[in-house]
Amino acid sequence: MKLPDDFYFTQSNLQDYEDCAYRFYLRHLLHVKWPASVVGDAIAFEKMGQSGARFHRLIQQYLLGIPEDRLRDLALRDPNPEIAEWWENFLQYIPQLLDGQRFIESTLTTSLAGQHLAAKFDLVLVNEDGNLTIFDWKTSKKQIRKDWLLERVQTRLYLLILKQGGASLTDFESIGPEQITMTYWFTASPDTPVTIPYNHHAYQKDQAYFIKTIKIIIEQDSDAFNRTTDHQKCRFCVYRSHCDRGVEPGELASLIDFETHVGSDMLKIDIDRIEEIQF
Ligand code: SF4
Repeated sequence: MKLPDDFYFTQSNLQDYEDCAYRFYLRHLLHVKWPASVVGDAIAFEKMGQSGARFHRLIQQYLLGIPEDRLRDLALRDPNPEIAEWWENFLQYIPQLLDGQRFIESTLTTSLAGQHLAAKFDLVLVNEDGNLTIFDWKTSKKQIRKDWLLERVQTRLYLLILKQGGASLTDFESIGPEQITMTYWFTASPDTPVTIPYNHHAYQKDQAYFIKTIKIIIEQDSDAFNRTTDHQKCRFCVYRSHCDRGVEPGELASLIDFETHVGSDMLKIDIDRIEEIQF
């Protein structure tokens, strides 16, 4: 399948492909809009997406040096009272981890199998000792397990892109996988962030996986993008009725990785701004 020249593989579209090749085909190649909600309560989903975006913005402003008092004021006046609580938890647990040079909301690109890949990082911290940490803020209501995060496309793709492209953020000629870790912080469990170290073996494994996946996508015919056989994957998919996989959406409280579900809309990578950091 020939992809447009400006097509970028991202964690959002590659996760769609891993969940269901047909969903990837409909959403990212045909751009089919389907009038259905990801979850039963569409309004709550929308509000949660907006709250997540506002909270990400508060953290971004804090990292840029806006005084804490002003931001606390904003958090207290937010229409969603949870944000004030998230904010106090953020201030209690995160600032002591932020020793180093900060790259906030940075986009990095790399290439594999002749295709572009891109990742937008909430924060990359470069320590004096030469180590790099990716921080990712999650506002899902459900707690997320480490073994689940290890398998997610976001974890594997972000680590790979930082390994291949992170030198553009630093003075280093190259970056070894062992210099990189990824830390997820959750509003649902603020005292237990999950840190995932990277290593050479994981890098090689992920590189082989993404090359293979990308080659399959670009070489297969359009009718080979099959519907998943795992009907669980259809629960939070807007194409349920299109695919005759039921019309009842899943519940918001059961949605695990909320940011990925809104990733292609509210928190998406702005491809027009990808020239921010190229290499
Ligand atoms: S409803 Fe199911 S089969 Fe259809 S695109 Fe979504 S995940 Fe794939």
